[in-house]
Amino acid sequence: MLTSLKGKSIIVTGGSKGIGRGIATVFARQGAKVTITARGEEALKTAVSEIEGDVRYEVCDVSDWASVQTMVANAAEAQGGLDVICANAGAFPQTKIIDMDPEEWDIVLSTNLKSSFLCVKAAIPHFEKASKGRVILTSSITGPITGFPGWSHYGASKSGQLGFLKTAALELSRYNTTINAVMPGNIYTEGLQGLGQEYLDTMAASIPLKRLGDVEDIGNAALFFASEEAAYITGQQIVVDGGQIIPESLEALEEI
Ligand code: NAP
Repeated sequence: MLTSLKGKSIIVTGGSKGIGRGIATVFARQGAKVTITARGEEALKTAVSEIEGDVRYEVCDVSDWASVQTMVANAAEAQGGLDVICANAGAFPQTKIIDMDPEEWDIVLSTNLKSSFLCVKAAIPHFEKASKGRVILTSSITGPITGFPGWSHYGASKSGQLGFLKTAALELSRYNTTINAVMPGNIYTEGLQGLGQEYLDTMAASIPLKRLGDVEDIGNAALFFASEEAAYITGQQIVVDGGQIIPESLEALEEI
């Protein structure tokens, strides 16, 4: 049993859907005060009405500095400070390099990587004031460990988050703040459903635990990094993928 996060102030970007919503659900269940953010207000309203607990929302584009600054300031004011920010929002359009418009590269890198920097930058004054804080990034196995045709920009952004993490851990230690990353495998979300049933079925078959992950599997890993018990862990990452990256070959999977 982890020490309770009751009353702690949490921000989850991309909290209207998928993994972010799962992270928000896990923290709200613990009694934390949670602000979820996204660009689409309707999905935010729906999530706030459906997640049980103390949950509010801020409309925010995580690739835009002014938007992130306003969102963090509003959340901290409404929730009496800031204890944890989960930089989770991300996008994964699937386009091969040969077909990729350079603008798409920039959008994916801004949404997935620059956003991590912006969230941390906006949160630092609050962590400095409180002399403590936690940052949790949602990275991926795709990029740091694996590859998949169509996701060169996505993989670069997710590896980039881990590069950012190392130096950020050093700089944040000054404010008694830790930063760690969760690296999900294939988690059943609205975003993943958009890739089609064939993709979902093939992926589930390639995972030793024979199922896609649940959004709360990622929420539970984030909860651990936010807990008192994880106070001495920083600059690290954990893979949550049902064993997907382990088999050396198809034969290794078939032998199970
Ligand atoms: P999802 O179901 O598509 O949800 C994405 C969330 O991010 C939505 O709330 C979306 O809301 C928000 N978002 C997207 N672009 C944004 C922007 N520019 N500003 C603010 N919010 C934005 O995706 P997901 O599958 O949950 O993925 C969430 C994170 O997990 C991503 O970082 C992704 O790379 C990572 N991940 C997912 C998987 C997986 O299997 N699902 C695996 C590895 C890593 P709006 O569109 O309304 O803004």
